Amino acid sequence: MRIYNFSAGPSMLPLPVLEQAAREMTDYNGSGMSVMEMSHRSPVYEAIINQTESDFRTLLGVPENYKVLFLQGGATTQFSAVPLNLMKTGKADYIVSGSFSGKAAKEAEKYGQVTVLASSKADNFTYVPYVDKFSPDADYVHICYNNTIYGTTFHYVPETGDIPLVADMSSYIMSQPVNVSDFGVIYAGAQKNMAPAGLTVVIVREDLLGFARPETPVMLDWKIQADNGSMYNTPPAYTIYVAGLVYKWLLGLGGLEEMKKINERKAKVLYDYLDQSKLFKPTAKKENRSLMNVCFVTGDPDLDKKFCSEAAANGFVNIKGHRSVGGMRASIYNAMPEEGVKALVEFMDKFERNNKQ
Ligand SMILES: *Cc1c(COP(=O)(O)O)cnc(C)c1O
Repeated sequence: MRIYNFSAGPSMLPLPVLEQAAREMTDYNGSGMSVMEMSHRSPVYEAIINQTESDFRTLLGVPENYKVLFLQGGATTQFSAVPLNLMKTGKADYIVSGSFSGKAAKEAEKYGQVTVLASSKADNFTYVPYVDKFSPDADYVHICYNNTIYGTTFHYVPETGDIPLVADMSSYIMSQPVNVSDFGVIYAGAQKNMAPAGLTVVIVREDLLGFARPETPVMLDWKIQADNGSMYNTPPAYTIYVAGLVYKWLLGLGGLEEMKKINERKAKVLYDYLDQSKLFKPTAKKENRSLMNVCFVTGDPDLDKKFCSEAAANGFVNIKGHRSVGGMRASIYNAMPEEGVKALVEFMDKFERNNKQ
């Protein structure tokens, strides 16, 4: 039996994807072996990775002059790769809108001079700061597009002019269309909205390649990875295969325009309920509300705890907020069915009636 898993990551995968992976587990496409067992340099596997990249490009409309890299190490490894590849003069701007962008800025400080243009930390990261002025000599501007822990999303794309904009889209990618050419670099850990853990996708504009600092570890050098088709060493082969199944599933649904409509409907069900609830309060500022991570509290930590444990007992699991903030967080990525969100709201409503204050 499948239960509704609201985990922020690793998170739900579409059921048809899991079923197909299961069918192909021991014999992929007549090869007599599992994708797990295959040489990444075999023609069978080359066809898998090429199709995966091609479908990824189609879904996001990635322009020709961008490379797509399938790497390991998680989004956190890219916190280091970004400054190592892009800090030509040693200066970068960061907007800190949550814990991951704070970590990214801290990592970059090891390599150069970081200017934090704005931070919403003093307000518990309940909103995304608006910024329209940047350091003229910055090598890049870094943002985290969707703040997984606080449930906020950028409601604008910072206009950085000639300065490359770099975005961590780990919990946003594939949830709706993105205009890739607004960005110099986009990176995302796959385990939120694309695949099992182990894969990180980097989209990088070609003119930004080739400037890695001399001390850059070879595995973090985007140009070397691009020149080797993400196969400088063994790539996360099986995870890339599952990502490919997820991309096919998305294409089958009608692509990211369609996915966006579904995600907006799902989030609306939850936010509409929260907005009229007398027990639960959404924590993110309205204009920055995330469609992917919905955070809310009762205001009483004991009641929060009671809610999470009763929710779990009723088949709504992993709804506890991040350990650093408490409260609740329902992550409703692409694979969470609409029925799951509706069932959660019904359960919350019942809980509210049983716990009148
Ligand atoms: C989960 C997450 C990360 C960390 O990802 P890892 O793959 O575990 O390194 C970084 N940024 C965002 C926005 C995330 O959601």
